[in-house]
Amino acid sequence: MARSRLPLIAGNWKMNGLRADALALARGVADGVRLAGWKDREVLICPPATLLIAVAEAVAGSGVLCGGQNCHVGASGAHTGEISAEMLSDSGASHVIVGHSERRADCGETDAIVRAKAEAAWRAGLLPIVCIGETLAEREAGRTLGVLEAQLKGSVPTGATSAKLVVAYEPVWAIGTGKTPTVAEVAAAHAHIREVLTGLASDAGALRVLYGGSVKGSNAGELLSADNVDGALVGGASLKADEFLAIAKAA
Ligand code: PEP
Repeated sequence: MARSRLPLIAGNWKMNGLRADALALARGVADGVRLAGWKDREVLICPPATLLIAVAEAVAGSGVLCGGQNCHVGASGAHTGEISAEMLSDSGASHVIVGHSERRADCGETDAIVRAKAEAAWRAGLLPIVCIGETLAEREAGRTLGVLEAQLKGSVPTGATSAKLVVAYEPVWAIGTGKTPTVAEVAAAHAHIREVLTGLASDAGALRVLYGGSVKGSNAGELLSADNVDGALVGGASLKADEFLAIAKAA
């Protein structure tokens, strides 16, 4: 891993957590990060939007960053039930995940929508984490690299830089399944992503590309050691403070 790229370990809590448990989890992560005193990595947690303000308050001063899991493309207006990037920022978020495969599948989010959401994040001063990844059928058809390239070209807005964008490579078939690609497969995907980013970002060599998909404490060291992997986007394992901190330690 190029040390010029500060590793980022991001936890995506998805639609999990009621106030008491979520605050206990947030405090557990904050305590661990405070104790470790890491200056050489970043730790981010993305709770459900309902908990963002409380979680941001609970981790304040610990160094733990907070993010949203999604945002609307607009800043405000008649969009019942939606949450804008500005609202996330106002609630204590510094980051927002956009284009997670669950939203691409469940909500029909296209590359164009993901791109608009990344631009909305910029408008609000948030750092978007743009997710891309192939399905099992696409992998089995030998289309992985082509799919990643098309998603990147469609989802990354013009004007991207390493300071304004993080990319997360998440094979859809590895999310929540306990299955992971081999280290060589991860490295091949990330090398291609970095190459494609060269045409999309002015300083692609410095842009962080995370791996996501069944990362846990026991496999984090191996997966994060792959070339061009600059951290992890973690789902299930981010719901236990010890497990999530073990991944952060491995970074
Ligand atoms: C995710 O949803 O972004 C994810 C990587 O989930 P998991 O770690 O549970 O596979």
